[in-house]
Amino acid sequence: MTRKPTLPDALAAVKDRIAAAAALARHEPSDISLIAVTKYAAPEQIRELLTLGVADVAENKVQQLQQRAALINEFHARQLSRGADATIAPRIRWHMIGHLQRNKVKPLLPLVTLIHSIDSLRLAEEIDAQAEKLGKKVNVMIQVNGSEEPQKSGVAIGAASHLGEQIATMPGIQLVGLMTMAAYGAAEKELRSTFSRVREVFEEMKWLKIGGSAFRHLSMGMSDDFEPAIEEGSTMVRIGSALFGPRPDNAPEETDED
Ligand SMILES: *Cc1c(COP(=O)(O)O)cnc(C)c1O
Repeated sequence: MTRKPTLPDALAAVKDRIAAAAALARHEPSDISLIAVTKYAAPEQIRELLTLGVADVAENKVQQLQQRAALINEFHARQLSRGADATIAPRIRWHMIGHLQRNKVKPLLPLVTLIHSIDSLRLAEEIDAQAEKLGKKVNVMIQVNGSEEPQKSGVAIGAASHLGEQIATMPGIQLVGLMTMAAYGAAEKELRSTFSRVREVFEEMKWLKIGGSAFRHLSMGMSDDFEPAIEEGSTMVRIGSALFGPRPDNAPEETDED
């Protein structure tokens, strides 16, 4: 009989696998950030995860991120002020990882630490304009359609560098890296070729000094493919089901539309 692992067990197992993959890639485990994707998690699970010391949480829809940030940030502040729990992280960092519409930028900006999913110049311009009003510099990544599937968001691999050059000059934006998703269920060889091609563009952009020294993150890898992603150079893995259990059967098909 198999039992559903508890969240502490699942977290420990994911961390061990990250460490093993990092060792193969000759990275320190601390070079790889674990971002917990909470889109199918229950609020109690997110609270528990915070008490286990995880600080980075991600949603793919603005509305759900807003609702959860309101709930979870309050819980976090309460825990901190009580000084109850030594393992709780000193701050929460919310990540936006799904397709972002321009009319949702304004409510999102005060809440997020990093937007992984910039896929057009117009979206970047809107973020820049709203960031300026807030007197903020917003950390962003360009989402690259590394698997070249027509239904996936992201700019073509060949267009990332040019968009990066345009974004890097915007005062309200700090470009910190690239994000990609491999094709769902793809064979390992195909996954690796997606990740390594995005890694090549990343290296080329670094060489061109696009984004300066802040440009140093590659957000690649999900529950089913984070090990090959780390071996191909990922510095941020976005993990949902390996922590919280399989997606519910009635979960909407992943369109990454908001
Ligand atoms: C849902 C999602 C993930 C996490 O997926 P799992 O397979 O549950 O780990 C990662 N990245 C993005 C962009 C997602 O939408």
